[in-house]
Order: sequence, then structure tokens, then C-alpha cells
Amino acid sequence: MSRKPYQRRVYWNESTMSWWERFYLLEILRGLSITGGVFLRNMGRWITGRKGALTTYYPEQTRSDYAAHNRGKHILTQRPDGRPQCIACNMCATVCPAQCIEIEAAFDPDDPAHPKHPSRFEIDYSRCVFCGFCVEACPEDAIRMVKEVPDLPSGDRDDMWFRRDDLLGWMPRSDVAKSYPPKPDATGGGRP
Ligand code: SF4
Ligand code: SF4
Repeated sequence: MSRKPYQRRVYWNESTMSWWERFYLLEILRGLSITGGVFLRNMGRWITGRKGALTTYYPEQTRSDYAAHNRGKHILTQRPDGRPQCIACNMCATVCPAQCIEIEAAFDPDDPAHPKHPSRFEIDYSRCVFCGFCVEACPEDAIRMVKEVPDLPSGDRDDMWFRRDDLLGWMPRSDVAKSYPPKPDATGGGRP
């Protein structure tokens, strides 16, 4: 039996466009005026020998001098057995202002300590604004943001969805917040 294609969720507060946004041309002109203004300002600075915009020819060039506190990429932390620490509570998806996190919960009867886990956990990087609210909202320290940036450029928006296994690939040598991967506790729960 063929599977039905996945229907993305429709949110109650789905953004709607005003009439001038739907008219399109005015917004195009507004965007061009902003871009043109920045271009002319940087060109003026460059011509007069002052420091203009720092240009990195991304994706051919990538910066290596990200600040230590840069938060450019999400990771899902793991339990000692490699499974996600996430309990699929959906709080990160609820708080996300860009509505770009999608989670499907699954039930694991073999793990009575953590029966609920995410069978699907996806972040749409074409919409994420890197605000970090998802990290703040998580009650389990299951999602974090790290200094690195994801490899984003693509001609297909679907390639910009980071899926559960992409997000689980983080293996730091040390972690200031807890031993990593976390050591099992006395009950075998794996919490720090
Ligand atoms: S960083 Fe902000 S926009 Fe991006 S997934 Fe988290 S809550 Fe959503
Ligand atoms: S990452 Fe955290 S907030 Fe998001 S569903 Fe998992 S446990 Fe809940």
C-alpha cells in the first residue's frame, strides 16, 4: 500500500499578507531600496578608504572566526545508548516563532523510564531565525545550539530541513554542562 505524502501542519496563527504585500511590486521596490542603500553606503566607504562591509564569498569561503558564543546550529543531545534525550514534549515547537520545528512522538514500551521519544524531529533552516527560544524552552536539555553553522546553500528548500539523524551527530570531546554522552544514573535513566 502506498503511503500518503506527509501534510505539513497548518497553524492557527499562520501569517497572512496584507493587500500591499500581495500586490508584490511595492514590496519588491521597498526591498530594492534597502539593498541599494546598503550597497551605496558600503561603496562610499570603500571609495573613501574607510572600513566597509566585511564580505565573505559564501559558500566558497566560510568564516573561521565565529565568536565563541555564536549559536549557529542545533544539536540533539543523546542518552548513553545513543538515543535522543528528547521526550517529544513539543515545547520547543510550540515556542518557536518561525514555526519551523516539526516533531512526531512515538511510544517505546521497552523503556518505561522514557516511553515517549521523537520518531521524527525536523528543523526547517530556511525559516529558522536562530533566536534560541527552542533551547530555552526545553525542560530536558535535549536541544542545544553550537558554534558551528550548518551547510545550508541549496537550490531546493527541502534540502534545508535538518532531520533527526543530522541533529544527533554531535559528539564533543567535553561538555561544560555535563559529562557527554551522559553517564547512566543509578536507575539507568542516563540523566546527568
Ligand atoms: S532558533 Fe528560534 S526560530 Fe530557530 S528553531 Fe529554535 S525557536 Fe525556532
Ligand atoms: S527538544 Fe526538548 S522541548 Fe523539544 S520536544 Fe524534545 S524535550 Fe521537548
